[in-house]
Amino acid sequence: MINRKTICKHPFTALAIKKYDNEGKLITAWPCCMMGNPTKEEGETNSYDADRLGIKNIEDLTPQEIFFHPRMNELRENLKNGIRDEACKVCWDQEDRNIKSFRNVIIADQTDEMMEEYVNEPRLDIIDTHINNACNLRCRMCDPNASSLLQIDHNYFKKNELLDDLYSSAGRWATKQNIFDLKNVKQWDWIYNNADKFKVLRMSGGEPFYNHHVLNFLDHCIEKGFNKTLTLEFHTNATLFDSVLLDKVKHFNNNLNFSIDGTGKVYEYIRYPMNWQQLDTSVKRFIEVVDQEVLNINFIVMITNLFNIPDFYRWLVSLNKPVTLTFSEVYFMDRGISLYNLPISILKHAKAKILNIELSKHIFTHNMLSIIDDAIKNNTENRKKAFTEIMLFDASRQQHYKDYLDPIIVEWLDGEKNARN
Ligand code: SF4
Repeated sequence: MINRKTICKHPFTALAIKKYDNEGKLITAWPCCMMGNPTKEEGETNSYDADRLGIKNIEDLTPQEIFFHPRMNELRENLKNGIRDEACKVCWDQEDRNIKSFRNVIIADQTDEMMEEYVNEPRLDIIDTHINNACNLRCRMCDPNASSLLQIDHNYFKKNELLDDLYSSAGRWATKQNIFDLKNVKQWDWIYNNADKFKVLRMSGGEPFYNHHVLNFLDHCIEKGFNKTLTLEFHTNATLFDSVLLDKVKHFNNNLNFSIDGTGKVYEYIRYPMNWQQLDTSVKRFIEVVDQEVLNINFIVMITNLFNIPDFYRWLVSLNKPVTLTFSEVYFMDRGISLYNLPISILKHAKAKILNIELSKHIFTHNMLSIIDDAIKNNTENRKKAFTEIMLFDASRQQHYKDYLDPIIVEWLDGEKNARN
């Protein structure tokens, strides 16, 4: 009997291979990339060990060998039998806070029969990987470790002696990006030459479609015929769909995930320097050319876009396409732009507006209200911290929150500005 309180599909079907040292040696792997996230408590103390499984000599193992490693077998046994394996603490932490965990989301549509199939015969069908941080955007909730372009902001903070303010307000700001020759990476070599032996390739960045290694890989798959059996599940910012890219992508099965966290000015404020019109056109081009049944959208909820959720929802409705819309928490959860720093009155006001949204049966949502509810319940109102983080990025890219954000948030931030004058 499978225990639904702990079962998760990922360890039976998938492997995330993302963390390398500066020589290209794999440091750790997980059944899902979320396993390497800090829990709320770990984020607050800013110290955690992302090597949740502790597999020794992992750099010498192929993805297949990692997937069938004894520690992975133990994890599968635990989750199947109702034991909360310590390695999955990020999900237990979310569930204990009444937030739909990554595990909850992945098993949401799973019947017992479906579960039995993969539990009885674990198979490496899905590989989730990452090549480097090449990216075309400087999103406010990201860091230079994940976006090459954010080095511009880093240089600005360094030059103006603002790094201490940044660490104290944003917390998460990893700059170390290992640059290595992909040819030396055993796991990538296996993926490149065995793309007909697994079914799904997940990729995050940087921006995967901005990366020439990824574009070469797509060409290689088309040439070898791997595209016929391979599904792309890339996390993409969805800004780069022109005819050249779509001409490659349309040859694959696609189940892409779009990271978009706002509309219009709010979008431009967060996902600098992208222009909303360009994103909108890119998404519509994708819908026109690529046969993907449901659009998967991930929306990171922050102080900056909380009041934009109703407009965002309306934009999705206007696309006239089935959508799965997942709301996610920003990492780390105690950083300035996190909802926990807003006053409860503002959170309640935003919640009331969201409850007024006219829901469409074509849009299936996860966590629409639970993230706000948790911020109300565990509130740590801190306008100073929010203002500091917001002003740092305003300065590094010459934006001003007044020109982009909802008047309620502007008034709240102005209160801090006035208090400082
Ligand atoms: S339970 Fe959570 S952390 Fe563990 S594999 Fe599943 S999604 Fe990942």
